[in-house]
Amino acid sequence: MLDTNALAELLFPHVTLTPEDMEARFPVRNLPEGAVVSRMAPSPTGFVHLGNLVQGLTSERMCHQSGGLLFLRVEDTDAKREVPGAVQTLIEGLKHYDINFDEGATIDGDAGHYGPYRQRQRVEIYHVYAKQLVLQGQAYPCFCTEEELADIHARQEAEKANFGYFGKWAIWRDRSIEEIKEAIANGMPYVLRFRSTGSIENKIKFTDLIKGNLELTENDIDHVLLKSDGIPTYHFAHAVDDHLMRTTHVVRGDEWLPTLPFHLQLFRSLGFKPPKYLHIGPLMKMDGDSKRKLSKRKDPELALTYYRAAGFPVQSVYEYLMTVLNSNFEDWRRANPDAPVDSFKFSHKKMNPAGSLFDEAKLRDVSKNVISRMSAERVYEEVVSFAKDYDKDLFDHLTADPAYAKAILAIGRGGKKPRKDFAVWADVKPYLDFFYDDWFAVTDAYPAQFKKADIKAVLDRFKATFDPSDDSNLWFEKIKAIADSLGFASDMKAYRENPGAFAGSIADVSMFLRVAVTGRLNSPDMYAVMQVLGADRVIARINAMLETL
Ligand code: GLU
Repeated sequence: MLDTNALAELLFPHVTLTPEDMEARFPVRNLPEGAVVSRMAPSPTGFVHLGNLVQGLTSERMCHQSGGLLFLRVEDTDAKREVPGAVQTLIEGLKHYDINFDEGATIDGDAGHYGPYRQRQRVEIYHVYAKQLVLQGQAYPCFCTEEELADIHARQEAEKANFGYFGKWAIWRDRSIEEIKEAIANGMPYVLRFRSTGSIENKIKFTDLIKGNLELTENDIDHVLLKSDGIPTYHFAHAVDDHLMRTTHVVRGDEWLPTLPFHLQLFRSLGFKPPKYLHIGPLMKMDGDSKRKLSKRKDPELALTYYRAAGFPVQSVYEYLMTVLNSNFEDWRRANPDAPVDSFKFSHKKMNPAGSLFDEAKLRDVSKNVISRMSAERVYEEVVSFAKDYDKDLFDHLTADPAYAKAILAIGRGGKKPRKDFAVWADVKPYLDFFYDDWFAVTDAYPAQFKKADIKAVLDRFKATFDPSDDSNLWFEKIKAIADSLGFASDMKAYRENPGAFAGSIADVSMFLRVAVTGRLNSPDMYAVMQVLGADRVIARINAMLETL
């Protein structure tokens, strides 16, 4: 019989703290019944993706709707994948998307009593539990070299056996303490492995809060707990951290489902109560006629940076993801157009176990609605912040006269049926460029069926009667009068009944003015446009047009 006591001391002589000490240091949180404690636990790979946001949003809603709390844990155990500055990129990326953490890693260090919140700073803690597992006979050192592992793999392939370090293949599983001592004395590097007692003949029943009732095969692999540098694997760190940080719900991608049986074994061996799990299906997109997972390599829209650069407001991405995550969100939004988004009752029960379809056209639609509900002030701030990074010229124009820019952006905003001109902030410049003289250009021509003399007469008469202090009714009455005086129908009904009796309609008369003043056939409400442009610009543009006629 292996003396596990001696082995534990041999491997972890420096560990003097015990699991009890850890329990005392990280006490059960004092939260109301039903409060969800969850976390985002991303790895700092330098790439923050939409999947991170989906996961974060789900956790965030569950925590904050239940009076619980959300924390950020940086899973930096894989030094090979880490790129410099990645933690900062990660934290800033999440901050930009307004994920509100109650504790965890921040730019300025850790905040909260359950830290450190960066796994590489928790090595001491993992070793307490590694030692415990060795003591319990549930973990052992394995000195296999890369070559030996490759050889095991090759032999398994030849025998058509299952792959992995288990059973008869687990050549260090039952070594004596003398052999282990000798290997250590020879300076051989080793990993610490879990001693699995599971069998693939057995199934475990498990209920995932998204996937429902599942039957999974037991784990028989002696997975690695600590790598040769003493740093834990994801699996071991997950069990220790989520226990000590008192996580009640783990929300993560369903790529972790295959290792869940191992995680449950670990929780049991460590004497921890496992959290509840929510495994989220992947984000997919249509590719021709078939669905496939969004891929980092093929799909730029997987990266969060894509949305900011494309000019999507954070709120649009957020509401779009809500639409994707909860099938009833859209109906709720239609019924509550002005309600703050966090008054929507998010439910993980409405999530699709198979994953969700990502559709950029739909995102644009949602975004148009979101932006249409924003105040001019808010739109101004958001556009300026976008333009600052992505369109210097636009930034200069907007900030040169903020009141003018806000007046432009206020057109068609605030009423029952707000205009929906913008899906992204990049749509703003082509929409409002005509308000700026140095950008203004007549880009649309008058349709050929109208006589130049009629157009000229409309412009002349308008100029003669235009008074910027008129209200919109009086302004329109004057245009109607011009129409009537030139044989254009001021009444659309009369025009439609007998178009041949008129030179055109009031709509054409307005269009003559529109092309002169905005340079285009389509524009927002002309009265509002003229109010913002001011009499001088309006008259100057009409004069310029008259010169060309
Ligand atoms: N670091 C893991 C990942 O990025 C976290 C999974 C989890 O949330 O437990 O996939």
